[in-house]
Amino acid sequence: MPSPSPPPPPVLPISEHEDVIVAAVDANPVVVVIGETGSGKSTQLSQILHRRGYTRRGAIAVTQPRRVAAVSVSRRVAQELGVPLGDEVGYAIRFEDRTSERTCIKYLTDGVLLRESLSNPELRQYSVIILDEAHERSLNTDILLGLMKRLIKDRASDLKVLITSATLDGLKVSKFFSGCPVLNIPGTLFPVEKFYSTERPTNYIESSLRTAIDIHAKEPPGDVLIFMTGKDDIDKMVSKLEERIQNLEEGSCIDALVLPLHGSLPPELQVRVFAPAPPNCRRFIVATNVAETSLTVDGVVFVIDCGYVKQRQYNPSSGMYSLDVVQISRVQADQRAGRAGRTRPGKCYRLYPISIYQNEFLEATVPEIQRSSLAGSVLYLKSLNLPDINILKFDFLDPPSRESLEDALRQLYLIDAIDENGEITDVGRVMAELPLEPSLSRTLIEANELGCLSQALTVASILSAEITLRSASKDMDGKRKRQELPDGSGWGDHIQLLQIFESWDQSGYDPRWCSDHDLQVRSMKLSKDVRNQLCQIIKKIAKGSTDVHARKSRKSDPDYRKLRRALCVGYGNQLAERMLHHNGYHTVGYRSQLVQVHPSSVLEGDEYGKFPMYVIYHELICTTRPYMRNICAVEQAWVEPILKKLEKLDVNKLSGGSSAPKDSELLVENKQVNSLKKDMDVKQSEV
Ligand code: ADP
Repeated sequence: MPSPSPPPPPVLPISEHEDVIVAAVDANPVVVVIGETGSGKSTQLSQILHRRGYTRRGAIAVTQPRRVAAVSVSRRVAQELGVPLGDEVGYAIRFEDRTSERTCIKYLTDGVLLRESLSNPELRQYSVIILDEAHERSLNTDILLGLMKRLIKDRASDLKVLITSATLDGLKVSKFFSGCPVLNIPGTLFPVEKFYSTERPTNYIESSLRTAIDIHAKEPPGDVLIFMTGKDDIDKMVSKLEERIQNLEEGSCIDALVLPLHGSLPPELQVRVFAPAPPNCRRFIVATNVAETSLTVDGVVFVIDCGYVKQRQYNPSSGMYSLDVVQISRVQADQRAGRAGRTRPGKCYRLYPISIYQNEFLEATVPEIQRSSLAGSVLYLKSLNLPDINILKFDFLDPPSRESLEDALRQLYLIDAIDENGEITDVGRVMAELPLEPSLSRTLIEANELGCLSQALTVASILSAEITLRSASKDMDGKRKRQELPDGSGWGDHIQLLQIFESWDQSGYDPRWCSDHDLQVRSMKLSKDVRNQLCQIIKKIAKGSTDVHARKSRKSDPDYRKLRRALCVGYGNQLAERMLHHNGYHTVGYRSQLVQVHPSSVLEGDEYGKFPMYVIYHELICTTRPYMRNICAVEQAWVEPILKKLEKLDVNKLSGGSSAPKDSELLVENKQVNSLKKDMDVKQSEV
């Protein structure tokens, strides 16, 4: 089918200031560009610099904090330029690379750019790096900001860095970059009338629903954007809204179309929100905060803002994550309202009183760096071999707490990524090259040693794809089907995940096998894709031809001892011991606390007395109480070396050590890394 001809490039505020932008970029290594959401920063800046010859010396990288934005914006730019996606314009996100040698405008997640800098610290393949959506203050973008500051010193003559934002405090960033220019691009935002509730509704879904129906019945044409906190709320809202619209007694003279929008939506459904509305039809777009600034949906005139957002927070003193529904900040509330005024005057319905907006909302959202586990980032920074770098003193725009940096150092020490002086080890260097969280990369390295890499790859793929395999159906049929799933043979969730994947493999990856067992076909396929990608990466790192496809080594290791042992080493920082006289476990280590097995665990349902004495857990989450999610039984003998390490742990030594080895040490260390890689190569041939 011939592809539709691309729409004419839009004239957006950014394009009107092309000359000013290019003059600033020509004259300065770093430029901050501030412009309203929808002014064209993500789609136009790269095209402008491409037109003006900046891609002659290298490609343009545009980072996005969200995968969905990297994919969607690159698709749009390819369309505007009339080229196939993956040619001149492409994208790279974790486990998916859609670029080619011809790619000169590359959209990529900030995490992927960090990873690229490991193999090419000066990022010489790029002549321009645009850190887009910097106001989101994602952990990786914050680290990139610090890194860019170093990089422009080394590449002052041939690298341009642009930092773009819808709301960021431009002066603060400018100060961070020694007073670089800040370009404020005036937008054409129409006035947005704001309506506040008199009190917080007890049920914001219901309240949003009523407001949406009211708009549909009484207001003139114009799309409605409804902010919800997450996928579950969105699914509920979409089905209830469709039902109510159908039953609308008085009816409306315009049709309605309800569309969800969130990060885990399949691409073919995501693009629907960018297609123009059918004639005489009002669209209701029910979205997460991805529609706040990352993705701009045209045609919105009404916004319904529940005032909440779902936020993952990490507590370094307990090592626990919580996924909380929290109040948005005033900056976020204003962004949400702004979505209504892009094409004409709009209305924003805030489902909270003005006093809450004024007195309770924080001014700006807390940067991710101040609410995340930093183990992966600290390992990354240590692996860069930057001279004179002490992690506790790294130049951050907003530094994380000392407590969370020390927590990261302790975690890395317990899984052998750094030694007792805080120096990165050769194992740590290999770990940093894998696009996985430290526990999983450590598990893979150990599994390679023990000869169970293939199994570990499967488990790591499922856990890192951040997917739910089981379908959400609560009916008896679903429950019955799930009971027929492999049960982990009493060893826990990691083993069950492996067995599920192996059984699906044996069925010839039959989608019917998934539905027969109440598993989501899409998630299963995704884990298979991720597994394939991981295999490629492992092969690249090991530099050799390997066969990582053979999957059945169960017979030779009936109790999965090798895999469980590898997991014990990888998760040495996430161990728990069963309590003898109480139900539950206590975590082992420097922040011991009582925890329970998550109700979703395959082991749950047994009596606590029969539970394994020691388990590792994939994560600690706090919902109604502290739970370990995804656990695996391990043996006491494997735990002992970790306990010994804990005794030796001295956080002052860990944090005092410079991460930069002297040149002579570096040579030795690199040799060790190479020999470790060779070793991996040999061992992999058996998987
Ligand atoms: P900013 O980065 O300043 O928020 P963008 O460059 O993302 O602005 O958006 C500029 C315009 O391009 C908007 O009108 C938006 O609707 C449109 N646009 C962006 N991405 C897409 C897409 N994937 N499909 C269709 N239109 C898009």
